[in-house]
Amino acid sequence: MAIQIDPWSDSIPQDYAKLMEDFGIKSFEKIAEKTPDPSHLMRRKIIFGHRDFERILKAIKKENDYVVMTGLMPSGRMHLGHKLVVDELIWYQDHDAKIYLCVADLESHITREISLQEAREAAINEYLTNFQALGLNLEECNLYFQSQSDVVQKLAHTLGNKVNFSELKAIYGFGGDSNVSHIFYPMIDVADILHPQLEEFEGPTPSIVPVGIDQDPHLRLARDVARRSENDYGFILPSSTYHRLMPGLTGGKMSSSKPKSAIFLTDSIEEVEKKVADAITGGGHTVEEQKKEGGSPDECIIYSLYVYHLMPDDEELLELRKACESGKLICGDCKKKAIKFLNKFLKNHKKNRKSVKKKIGKIIEDHS
Ligand code: SF4
Repeated sequence: MAIQIDPWSDSIPQDYAKLMEDFGIKSFEKIAEKTPDPSHLMRRKIIFGHRDFERILKAIKKENDYVVMTGLMPSGRMHLGHKLVVDELIWYQDHDAKIYLCVADLESHITREISLQEAREAAINEYLTNFQALGLNLEECNLYFQSQSDVVQKLAHTLGNKVNFSELKAIYGFGGDSNVSHIFYPMIDVADILHPQLEEFEGPTPSIVPVGIDQDPHLRLARDVARRSENDYGFILPSSTYHRLMPGLTGGKMSSSKPKSAIFLTDSIEEVEKKVADAITGGGHTVEEQKKEGGSPDECIIYSLYVYHLMPDDEELLELRKACESGKLICGDCKKKAIKFLNKFLKNHKKNRKSVKKKIGKIIEDHS
């Protein structure tokens, strides 16, 4: 039976290979080798799958125009799992992409019952401030709020006649008790993905949407709608890449709604120490056992922190892995090291947030 993915749930897929098989997602491994200057997320197979990345690679190599489309849903505080997407965007910005960044305030409102005003404040004070502080140049992005984009809303309604309820039910699992705004929402997402290719923006252009695998339903729908509207708009099918979801410190997905599972970008030193101390590891039951048997980094959340965020140098990471597996490194010391790295990063990030805070209002104003 095919796996169903819910873009709005907190669960983490157990079987990525089965997902790829079920939904026709290609492995990223080979194409990563052909990609110039691949990011650590590409090299380490955190980005594990793609659809039509070849088209984007060609554009990068030939220095042709291409678009990256992405969104942020303002709800709760931003954590390391969210940072992963920003790291991807920075890589594309360094490779001359035109970035369209959507603040999905309608999605927050519809799926999380957050008012548009609260969503706007969270987007500006939390997400966009963090994006800029992490190194994304928002001034160079096409930034917009979903609720304020007449183009996106009009396109969503126009393209809505290409999709019926049975299809949405099959993709998203909607039922008789689903609210109507939620049922229609995927069309807004489709319009977000496709609108950069309208004549008034870039025209038909290669585009890519880098997402966590949980967002694939939107991509499948957008590609189907693009195919069905080809005669009307000439859309080029959007490409996509898929990254593994950042595991939470307590298991499952790192999630704002479960504070103990996440390292937030504004956590204090004390909070980080407590969360890391309580995190699940792949170590033995006792220090003696671990020294004798070694640890299992692939089952360890602390190791994931190193892989995803804390250790950009591949050789250093390999050394840590070997030390863990051989029993030379024990979890207590490994956690202390992770805390040190995290606190250095968060201290620096706090400083960056302070300096970008002053100009974030102006950036929003310029994009309004
Ligand atoms: S030594 Fe580090 S990487 Fe290995 S299991 Fe323990 S915490 Fe994880």
